[in-house]
Amino acid sequence: MKVKVNKDACIGCGACAAICDIVFELDDEGLSAVKAGQEEVKDEENKQAVRDASESCPTGAIQVEE
Ligand code: SF4
Repeated sequence: MKVKVNKDACIGCGACAAICDIVFELDDEGLSAVKAGQEEVKDEENKQAVRDASESCPTGAIQVEE
């Protein structure tokens, strides 16, 4: 699974990092970023957490490619 954040859409609510802090963090500008090396998610548990984060994002900023 590949995951990206569209920073133009992110409002920095922090939901994704709260749900899946293995993959997401807030950057210096307070916007979500995929942590270095986590652009490709392989672990099943983490994949589900990324899906949950994507569904919880209020602006649809998290792009997931299964
Ligand atoms: Fe940004 Fe969406 Fe994450 Fe909130 S949940 S910080 S809007 S990517």
